[in-house]
This record gives sequence, C-alpha cells and structure tokens, in this order.
Amino acid sequence: MTELVVMAHDEAAMELAGRKLGESLPDGGVVYLQGTLGAGKTTLSRGLIRARGHAGAVKSPTYTLVEPYELTDGPVYHFDLYRLRDPEELELMGIRDYFTPEALLLVEWPEKGGGLLPNPDIQLEIAVVPEGRRLTFTALSNRGQAALARFPA
Ligand code: ADP
Ligand code: MG
Repeated sequence: MTELVVMAHDEAAMELAGRKLGESLPDGGVVYLQGTLGAGKTTLSRGLIRARGHAGAVKSPTYTLVEPYELTDGPVYHFDLYRLRDPEELELMGIRDYFTPEALLLVEWPEKGGGLLPNPDIQLEIAVVPEGRRLTFTALSNRGQAALARFPA
C-alpha cells in the first residue's frame, strides 16, 4: 500500500493537486474523496476537471448526484453522494452506466454509496489543519500505485 502526503496551503494549491492527480491517472480510474464539508473535495475536483480540458464552470453535484464531463482526454464523472438517503437511488439513476473502463470517477462522500460503487484505485483523505489542508493519497490497486508513483513532486 502506497501513501502520499501533500500539503495544500490555499485554494490554488488545492486545484493544483487536482491537476496533478488528473495527470497521474491518464487512463481513468476511481478516486474516493473523503473529508468534512468544506474540506476542499470539490475544489480539488475542479482543478482536475479543468486540467483535462473543461473550460467552463465546475459546479458541485450535491443536488444532481453526478455531473458528467465528456472531455477530449476521456470522460470524467464527478459524484457527490452527500444527499443520498438510500443507495438504491444510485441504481435508479443508472449509476452503472458511468462505470466504464476509460472513465475517471471522482466520488465525494463514497461512504454513502453502500457497496454499489466500484472499488477505488486511490482514496484521498483531506484533513483541515491550521496550515490549510493535508492531503493523504492511498493507492488501493496497481493502477493507483502507478498513479502515485507518477504524481509530480
Ligand atoms: P467540499 O467539496 O469538501 O465540501 P469545497 O471544495 O466545496 O469543499 O469548499 C472548500 C472551501 O475551502 C472553499 O471555500 C475553498 O475556497 C476552501 N479551500 C479549498 N482548499 C483549501 C485549502 N487548501 N486551504 C484553505 N482553504 C481551502
Ligand atoms: Mg463538495
């Protein structure tokens, strides 16, 4: 199990960490984003999604559960399960259609998915600390290991 710890002192550093994560996962994969409300999960996602070629706004999918981005570098599906009451809702929304091998899945509040989500390649835990945010990336698959090995210093 590989772990990588990165400090992000402000919002810009958080977006940069997202950009680097995206560059490290060129073939897609599954990333779980964990941390309290306001930790910076959506901020990091914005950096990643913009780095992969999305020019417009990146809104929080809190109410829609998922925001799809069909980008030239491949699809990115950004989930936020915070408001999910029953994992059954994920079946009803057709969540399996998003689980394609080439897609990059970003999932905020994965713990609400109740076993319906694919296993993560990388789990990111964001801790709020006095200096900003401490990001702990854990690789949970070979693909995740390779990504963390590529993560730019
Ligand atoms: P979440 O999706 O985890 O609920 P958001 O990304 O929506 O969190 O919001 C995080 C808030 O914290 C935003 O106001 C953002 O500007 C700020 N923020 C993000 N990253 C950092 C950071 N590394 N240090 C300080 N503030 C940050
Ligand atoms: Mg969010």
